[in-house]
Formats: sequence, C-alpha cells, structure tokens
Amino acid sequence: MKTGLLLLAALLAVLSVCDGVRFGPLCSGNPTNRRRTSDRWGEGRYGARRGSRLHKGLDIVCSDGATVYAPFDVTLNGKVIVYTDPKKAAINNGINLSGEGLCFKLFYVRPDRTSGVVRKGQRLGTMLPMQSVYPGITSHVHVQMCDKSDPTRYF
Ligand code: ZN
Repeated sequence: MKTGLLLLAALLAVLSVCDGVRFGPLCSGNPTNRRRTSDRWGEGRYGARRGSRLHKGLDIVCSDGATVYAPFDVTLNGKVIVYTDPKKAAINNGINLSGEGLCFKLFYVRPDRTSGVVRKGQRLGTMLPMQSVYPGITSHVHVQMCDKSDPTRYF
C-alpha cells in the first residue's frame, strides 16, 4: 500500500512536469486559437519562408478590429514596435508579455495598457487593421517567444 502511494506520488510529479502550458483563446471569434494556414502572403506556421528569412512566430487567426484576450494571467512588459517601414504604420504595434514562465510578444495588437497585470480572458487590446496593409491575408495575431523559439507546442 505504501509502495502504491509512493508510485502514485511519483506519477503525479511526472504528470505535473509534463503538463505543459497552453494558451487560452487569444481573439474574439476564434475560441479554439485556429491557426493561419496559407494565403497569398505566405504561411502562418513557425519556420515558414519569408523571402530570405524564416517566420519566427505562429499566426493565430484574428479579424481586424477583434478583441484580443490574455491567454492566461499575464504581466505586461511594454509595447512592441513591429516594423521600421512607415507604409506598415497602421499595424505597427504589439505588446510584450510574461506569464506561466513564458516571455512572448503579440504583434498587430493595439494594447489597452502596456504595464500591470491582466487576468486570463480579460482584454489586452484590439486587433489592428491588417487588411489595409496586406490585402487578402488571413488577418492574425503573431505570437513570438522572446527567445524566438517555437511557440507551437503551447497551442
Ligand atoms: Zn507571423
């Protein structure tokens, strides 16, 4: 019996280590965090080709003007400037966040605030007008880890 309890405790410890972080819904209208697949501007997966570069994030479908939510309890670490190109000014905003032991950025979001704490499911801001810069694209929030590692396993 004692051995059984010890085995159970060990199993639970292993399960808690393996029980990875999962992003909750990021965008209104997309409760399952559906991913951008492929459109005339490219693919949304991590590692997709972007000319001579590689795509260093994962794109989650989000309509222009939609509400963007905290995927878990997060601390806001300031805004992000996405582009240097002034022609992309309309979507040149994002936010740097941390939570669940992760540091990550969300691109193409106009944040309500850039400091403090936001609870899971509460609003972070508004999806910017991506169609005005990339007509015909699948509008999306770009999720990028601060260390540029692959975020796909968290979805
Ligand atoms: Zn992207």
